[in-house]
Formats: sequence, C-alpha cells, structure tokens
Amino acid sequence: MNILAVSAHPDDIEFFCAGTLSRFKKSGHSVAMAILCDGNKGHFEIKAKELAEIRKKEAENSAKILGADLFIGLFPDLELHINKESVDKLVDVIRKVDPDLIITHSPDDYMVDHVNAGKLAIDASFCATLPNYETKVKKCVKLVPIFFMDTASGVNFQPTEYVDITEEMPIKEKMLLCHQSQYTWLKEHDKIDYVDFMKGLNQFRGTQCGVKYAEGFRQHLVWGRIKPYRLLP
Ligand SMILES: [Zn+2]
Repeated sequence: MNILAVSAHPDDIEFFCAGTLSRFKKSGHSVAMAILCDGNKGHFEIKAKELAEIRKKEAENSAKILGADLFIGLFPDLELHINKESVDKLVDVIRKVDPDLIITHSPDDYMVDHVNAGKLAIDASFCATLPNYETKVKKCVKLVPIFFMDTASGVNFQPTEYVDITEEMPIKEKMLLCHQSQYTWLKEHDKIDYVDFMKGLNQFRGTQCGVKYAEGFRQHLVWGRIKPYRLLP
C-alpha cells in the first residue's frame, strides 16, 4: 500500500504516528509525509524565513531515517486555511502519492493548523477522485480510508484502534530528535520536554491495550471510506 501522513507541522508526525509509519515501512509499504506548514513561527529568536529553512532540513533528516517521501511547507504556520487554493495544493500531493490510506489530525486537536490540516485532508482526498476537479497534476485517484491520529497529550481523543509500537520507539525518538530547533521552543513556550511528552502519550496508549508503547487511532467512518478488514499494522 501507499501510506500518506498529512500533518500541520514538522514534528507532528513524529509525535503521533511515526511508530505506525515505521511498521508500515517494515512490512514493505511505501510511506509519504505531507507536512503542510513550514514551521516558520515556532521559535523565540530565529526569524521566520531562516526558521522555515532549518525546519525543512530537520524534516528531511527525519524522513530519511524512515525512508519516506516528503512534501513540506505548502503554507506558513497559521496561514493554512480551507479554501480552493489550499485544497488544490493538497489535491496535487495526493494525486502524486496515489495513497491507499491517509493518516491525519483529529478534528478535536488543540490548534487551528492541526484542525485545518485534518479537514483539508478529508476535502482534498475527495476532490482528488474527481476527473473534473482540475489541478496541475492530471490524474485521478481512488477514495481512501482516513485515520485520525492522536491529539496533543491525548485530550479529547478516544482511540478505537491501537498499534503496538514498542519496537519502533528507538526510530521514533531518533526522528523526533531531528527537530532540534523545537527542543528549546517547546520547553520555553509549552513547558514540555518533547521526548517525555511523546513517550508519555505512547506509554499511556500502551497501557490501554496491554503493550509497553502504542499509538492510538480513530477511523473517519463515512460511506466510501470503510473496509471490512483491518488496515493498520
Ligand atoms: Zn503541530
């Protein structure tokens, strides 16, 4: 299968679904990461343009560890809105990747970029199936299942499916540590150590399903996107 993860910022995928993506890779599936925002506002000292470049490199290093294709920086942080331009941009990514399954943010997550990225993934993945929805990439793809990944610290999110990522924790941590520019930012702005933050959530989800570390997901259950078998690893 072709797996596409659609996130708002560089480092979201590492927090919420990189373990599952790693399991997909190990089973021989292809993985692509679409990081819609460029991360240009997440720092106290580094200016926006320079920060976007740094964060692109960090995301590239992380994607390389996973062996994933990377699309990054379609919008500046907090300028990701739902409109025709943003839908068209993601339609083109989806048409290039031709996914069999999409993982994205939950509608209940804590900030607007996350919520909009999730909504955009739903809208764009539908538009991408329509021959008369014309964008730069002249290709039509199928309507595919969508899974919502966990929210920041699991607030407002009750998973219905769990993936055991105990063996994936070293790669997940290594990927997260690529985002060094965020270590100080998250410590000072959000009062968290990002590795503890990530591990805590995965340990909590692991406790819920009887393993050491897990990632939790909820499927977007609407007509046309449901399969009669399990899709996650
Ligand atoms: Zn984020």
